Amino acid sequence: MADDKELKSKGKNKKTKNEKSFRKIKRNHSWISILIFTITLFLVGALGYAFVDFFFLYAVETKIAAEYDSISYMSRLYDNHKSDNYDLLDEEGRLYFIKDKDGNIIYQKGEITASEEAKSVFFDFEENKINVYLDKNDEYIYVNNEGSLMFDYFKFIKSIRYDKDGVLYVGDRTIEHDELVEYGDKIGIDSNEIDVHVGIDDERYKESMNAINDVVSAELPLWISIDLRDGNELVAKAYVRINVRDVALFTILAIVVAVIIFLVFIVVVANVIGGFIRQRRITNFFFTDQVTKGRNWMWFKDRSDQLLRKKKNAKNKYAVINFVFVKYKTFCLCHSVTEGEEVLKKVNDWMESSIEKKELVAHVTNSNFAMLLRYVDADDLDIRIKTLIKELEQIDTEHKFAFQAGVNKIDVSKDENGRFVKRKNIDIEQEYNNACAARATFGTSEDSGVAYFDEKLVEEQKWIDMVQEKQQQALDNEEFMVYYQPKYDPKTNELRGAEALIRWQSPDYGFVSPGRIIPIFEKNGFITEIDHYMIQHVAKDQKAWLDKGFKCVPVSVNVSRAHFIESDLAEQIRDMIDKVGTPHNLIEIELTESAFFDDKNAMISTIEKLKSYGFSVSMDDFGSGYSSLNSLKDMPLDVLKLDAEFFRGENSGERGEIVVTEAIKLAKSLNMRTVAEGVEIKEQVDFLAEQGCDMIQGYYFAKPMPKDEYEARMSET
Ligand code: C2E
Ligand code: CA
Ligand code: CA
Repeated sequence: MADDKELKSKGKNKKTKNEKSFRKIKRNHSWISILIFTITLFLVGALGYAFVDFFFLYAVETKIAAEYDSISYMSRLYDNHKSDNYDLLDEEGRLYFIKDKDGNIIYQKGEITASEEAKSVFFDFEENKINVYLDKNDEYIYVNNEGSLMFDYFKFIKSIRYDKDGVLYVGDRTIEHDELVEYGDKIGIDSNEIDVHVGIDDERYKESMNAINDVVSAELPLWISIDLRDGNELVAKAYVRINVRDVALFTILAIVVAVIIFLVFIVVVANVIGGFIRQRRITNFFFTDQVTKGRNWMWFKDRSDQLLRKKKNAKNKYAVINFVFVKYKTFCLCHSVTEGEEVLKKVNDWMESSIEKKELVAHVTNSNFAMLLRYVDADDLDIRIKTLIKELEQIDTEHKFAFQAGVNKIDVSKDENGRFVKRKNIDIEQEYNNACAARATFGTSEDSGVAYFDEKLVEEQKWIDMVQEKQQQALDNEEFMVYYQPKYDPKTNELRGAEALIRWQSPDYGFVSPGRIIPIFEKNGFITEIDHYMIQHVAKDQKAWLDKGFKCVPVSVNVSRAHFIESDLAEQIRDMIDKVGTPHNLIEIELTESAFFDDKNAMISTIEKLKSYGFSVSMDDFGSGYSSLNSLKDMPLDVLKLDAEFFRGENSGERGEIVVTEAIKLAKSLNMRTVAEGVEIKEQVDFLAEQGCDMIQGYYFAKPMPKDEYEARMSET
């Protein structure tokens, strides 16, 4: 019962707090980290690129400028002297050649490796333009589309390598040991140290990179051309020398940038991974049932929403099932909650192992499980559930359990083109509630079984909701009426008493019988108010009749079992009646036997108190199913009301008569009066009269009637 309520309220506040916070957590935030990382990477990359570009342009161009100065100085010297004074050009360490107007080389020293075509390029930070020839053997200096000289640093760095024999290369050029020593001397590195690095094998390549960077510089050849006054062209090989000093700053910065990128990368990766792990953990926590360690309701909702709403699954028929381990509470009482939970875990495990792909099982609350099963044929589904129940009944070797399933089939629907319609608006909570409603039709039965949901159940649920909504208003507006059903002496046909029975005269629903409202009030606790209401009205009516001079007989009022467990019930009743001023002997309190099961001692004490105040107490519905004899033994009751069942159907007849006779005898020997309920025919009246039954309450004499009619009956006597 508590479970049903819980779910109902769950259904009402669609998104519970838990759920909302869960959705928040479930949302994936790692993309933010990835985005930040990408932006950082992009920015750092762009900055790095701009920096390299600028730095090398600067380095290369400064050097070209210096070379250009020397060469143009030579050209001026040449111009000022005789054109054929080539001795001047025999400068140590630099190659020159002179081309005449037709392109013929008229002077040459050393090998000419200049390319054919001269290019006019900017240098000196794009302020001046000179003509250059690129060197055929060089791949690091080139001219870009805009006519600027460029230096391919990365290619250059990559081209520094050792071959298998330990010979150092820069590009295709071998760097001799002597050369290294020479560079080493220049920049102050010990030649011994260099020896260490020459001749190492491939594996140590990386290690030695730093050392190489220290000693290597590269000569990047470029042929600068200057027009001579006599119309010839002077071309000189300029050595643009890039060495460690030039690249040191850049290298350091490059390393710093690389480290930053690396760190950012590590942080982002750690963050993303950490985020995923955390999210998984939280998700797992949210989705794990603490009792069964399986899945919980939250998970069930989430997954079934996903499953059912998928277009792919639209053609599959599904059933939502409320699966209940029936006597869970009793089991916990007899054993322990821990043992009870062990069983729940076993049940959950078994159910999990019984499902297939795209099916779900979760533990909801206490003894409730939710299932989502796929089916093709309804009969097969029925067999499957019944088989599962059979298996679960025997899950424990020592006990035989019972399970009930409420099944709500979610059918597939097709649109006008015969295509399956996506169940996009499906509310799994509602569907599960419907399954619960189907299960609830088992009522108090504790046997295993399967019940199916249909629209009638929806109507019933609507009625229940409406009654609950209207109950207080109906009470305040006095829409509840007291009907009186007289009790007669079967021998003398005299009025001996009456029972007060409630009716609801609803402005919206008309005349409503108690069978449609009392069970609802008993469930929701409103019955206490009803009992008070009835007692007060009966007390007032009796007092009024008494004052009018009627010969009043005791009227019995039903007090529900839920009410009877209140320890001061007797005092409450007494005070209510005393407020009106009705004599106590005109009021009788009816209890049903089932009330005796709750707390026998409390019950006995309440009965004794009521009796001591002068009220009669009767046991209602005696023989209607509970073991009555035992309670008779202990309860100091005044009246025994034989249940109507005795006089109906199979119970009537010879054997029934024996039982009734004996019950009357038993009551008499316990000093109790007897009332036979539900008597409809004369033979029964005669028989009961013969057996010494004190009163008859049944349609034979009178149906329950409004107050005025009852008043008329009283005046007859
Ligand atoms: P109950 O206390 O056993 O009341 C007797 C029921 O049997 C009444 O139904 C009455 O109309 C019906 N009855 C009496 N004689 C005959 C007969 O000869 N044939 C047939 N077929 N029925 C007969 P009612 O008034 O519909 O009440 C149904 C039940 O609702 C009551 O059973 C009682 O348990 C509950 N109830 C009614 N009024 C109240 C109330 O004021 N307070 C509480 N707590 N329960 C109430
Ligand atoms: Ca009754
Ligand atoms: Ca009864």
